[in-house]
Amino acid sequence: LGGSIARALARMKDATVVDEKVLADCLNEISRALLQADVRFETVRDVKANIKTIVNLDALAAGTDKRRIIQKNAGSREAGLHPSKGKPSVVMFVGLQGSGKTTTCTKYADYYRRKGFNPALVCADTFRAGAFDQLKQNASKAKIPFYGSYIESDPVKIAVEGVDRFRKEKCDLIIVDTSGRHKQEAALFEEMRQVSEATKPNLVIFVMDGSIGQAAFDQAQAFKQSASVGAVIVTKMDGHAKGGGALSAVAATRSPVIFIGTGEHIPDFEVFDVKPFVSRLLGMGDLSGLMDKIQDVMPADELVPKLTEGAFTLRLLYEMFQNLQNMGPLGQLFSMIPGLSSQFIEKGKEKEGQAKIKRYMTIMDSMTQKELDNTNPKLMNESRINRIARGSGRLVKEVVDMLEEHKRIAKMWSKLPINNIRRPNNRDSL
Ligand code: GDP
Ligand code: MG
Repeated sequence: LGGSIARALARMKDATVVDEKVLADCLNEISRALLQADVRFETVRDVKANIKTIVNLDALAAGTDKRRIIQKNAGSREAGLHPSKGKPSVVMFVGLQGSGKTTTCTKYADYYRRKGFNPALVCADTFRAGAFDQLKQNASKAKIPFYGSYIESDPVKIAVEGVDRFRKEKCDLIIVDTSGRHKQEAALFEEMRQVSEATKPNLVIFVMDGSIGQAAFDQAQAFKQSASVGAVIVTKMDGHAKGGGALSAVAATRSPVIFIGTGEHIPDFEVFDVKPFVSRLLGMGDLSGLMDKIQDVMPADELVPKLTEGAFTLRLLYEMFQNLQNMGPLGQLFSMIPGLSSQFIEKGKEKEGQAKIKRYMTIMDSMTQKELDNTNPKLMNESRINRIARGSGRLVKEVVDMLEEHKRIAKMWSKLPINNIRRPNNRDSL
């Protein structure tokens, strides 16, 4: 798999101009390799679209100082998201009841123990009957020290006692499991806030059931408001869940997904080094694991050496629309893409939005290459607009509207916090 993708990329690197065709060839090569590796067709199609989106993004980002951006992100990329050996870290798990916190705590502890850490588990869930027994069972199975109580009903007290004790025992990763509720309710958030204040966690992880879909955004946001969520773990990705909600959680908490749960057992746990910004655009959480694999063999610096224009051209808009059409339900994606949210498509009017995109693409189909790649605001004069309207069979007003909309979106993109773009290759750059 790696070999043929690498070859495709090498060819791309050798090309003097990376244009549509070179990119398409490269993407086809990658698709073939993935299909041969038994990756589902739908997934391959999505990955293709995703890569195109990333390429477009890179073209955008390249306008500013690319080197600086990469450096900056490389430096801060992992900071705070993972414990450091020998230095005591407190990690608090939050999430609704049933989301998988207790199970995930143990998986998380086990993962780091295998990496040489000395983890311990504290059960601060005094709400659910049997919570301590469950944690105890899990912890014993994984041979991880644990702390909890059958009689104490104050979660804050237990949390503090447990953390103190394991600090004394020189544990370098103290994991605090908290209680959940069935709903996002005040009592839960108050309890969370108190436990957090008392134990001063270095990291708060929001655990989310991968199948909750659209509800994820509100849920994640509610948690973010009460505890400073720094990372997300999405569970139950072994089921039918596409994990699309994960991206809403990422957007709502502005925190990356760091792991996914893929089963009920301790080893059913995978690193999910998601690139938050890119994922936000992709709208498909479960693909990012695959994206990671591709990125291992595909440094973006090689993929986009010649795309250096900084402007958000009509062509970029066209390709974005094209990518969007290949992807899942519009509503969910649109709310996550700068410039394409409520202003472009009203909530509940996704059908009209789809029609609008089609119309815009028809209009752009009647543009010349020069117009599509244009960065000069004066180019689109009356005669060009009239010609485009005639050619596409649309009204002049519709063409003008489209150009206005493009301007608005382009402006928004020009203001994007590019520093937040986690570039695919930043792990080994410069
Ligand atoms: P909590 O209430 O948030 O602590 O959730 P639990 O850890 O008790 O998990 C609730 C249920 O989800 C349990 O039956 C777990 O076995 C199950 N569960 C947790 N993570 C996963 C996962 O990744 N895949 C599957 N299939 N089940 C999971
Ligand atoms: Mg629990």
